Amino acid sequence: MTPLSPDSVAVHAGRADLTALGVHALPLDLSSTNPLPGIDSGGASYEAMALGGHPTDGGHVYSRLWNPTVARFEEALAALEHTAEAVAFSSGMAAVTATVLAARSRGVGAHVVAVRPLYGGTDHLLASPLLGVETTFVAPDGVAAAVRPDTCLVVLETPANPTLELVDVAGVVAAAQGRPVVVDNTFATPVLQNPADQGATLVLHSATKYLGGHGDAVGGVVATDEEWAAALRRVRAVTGGILHPLAGYLLHRGLPTLPVRVRAQQGSAEKLAGWLAELPAVRHVHYPGTADGDPLGLVGRQMRGPGAMLAIRLTGGFEQAARAVERVRLFTHAVSLGGVDSLVQHPAALTHRPVPPEARPGADVLRLSVGLEDVEDLQADLAQALAA
Ligand SMILES: *Cc1c(COP(=O)(O)O)cnc(C)c1O
Repeated sequence: MTPLSPDSVAVHAGRADLTALGVHALPLDLSSTNPLPGIDSGGASYEAMALGGHPTDGGHVYSRLWNPTVARFEEALAALEHTAEAVAFSSGMAAVTATVLAARSRGVGAHVVAVRPLYGGTDHLLASPLLGVETTFVAPDGVAAAVRPDTCLVVLETPANPTLELVDVAGVVAAAQGRPVVVDNTFATPVLQNPADQGATLVLHSATKYLGGHGDAVGGVVATDEEWAAALRRVRAVTGGILHPLAGYLLHRGLPTLPVRVRAQQGSAEKLAGWLAELPAVRHVHYPGTADGDPLGLVGRQMRGPGAMLAIRLTGGFEQAARAVERVRLFTHAVSLGGVDSLVQHPAALTHRPVPPEARPGADVLRLSVGLEDVEDLQADLAQALAA
């Protein structure tokens, strides 16, 4: 059979055995523990999983080590991201934490190079002493100079949260000179971008956002090769960050509609970006679909579209931003993003609050996550919220 198109993969990935099982919907296995077929086989399976491997014929043993519902979601993500495997975590931040710990566990060193801007939580974690790493924060063109012999990981996000800067993944991979590169692909989703195809070692998602798409599950996932997946599962087994199976079920259930959701939401974001740019209340629109939002011409080359996230800078500064988030009716004033309903938030006060002032977005910036509502209704809501 010819390879399936990504839209078909989104519908069918992780479901190949369902017909043989005689079921049509995804099975949900909530067992915290599993009956053991015997001491020896159970023990052997336990040991294999504690070291990051797959279960053997001794079964799944314990749900902190392995869960079949979570494993299905992982298989689907690996297929969508063009990697051999994927490992799912209880949140995007648990995935970031495990990635850093797995990188450290290789014994190369404890130095991390991180390309700013990043999601506020990631920035905060890497700047803190919590994981025992020393982080050098750089602009994309500063990676080559910042890499040292003890650099164990290079971290980047594209489009970056919250102001949608695009980073050339292949360029950073080259500048990393063989060091592993993790790309946070939360904003683009595998529908619009596959960083592994550009040479990224690890592709990370806050699955809470677009992958789930319905605002009802928190999770994270890292798609990567077999060796890194084993290192990540080992960290997950001992630090206890595995995704809950109910969340795994919900996130997997969101995947079949991911391509249509992302494309429909992107279509509305493109229209809103053009309209917002003409509003006197708006000083600047940050959106990869505009000429100055994509100076390197990465949309079309690295990304298959500009996405459905945008940020605006308001002429009326913080006061206007504060008024707008109080006035919206169809948009919800809330953090998070990527769901079927539109959200608006003030990054400097919320998601990027822990970021040092020099790297924090301006007080005049609002971030919009465009949902599936009718675009004219969204436009009318923003028009009244931004009116003088
Ligand atoms: C939300 C987010 C995270 C953190 O994910 P959680 O699921 O909230 O832990 C990481 N990266 C990006 C880009 C995000 O938007």
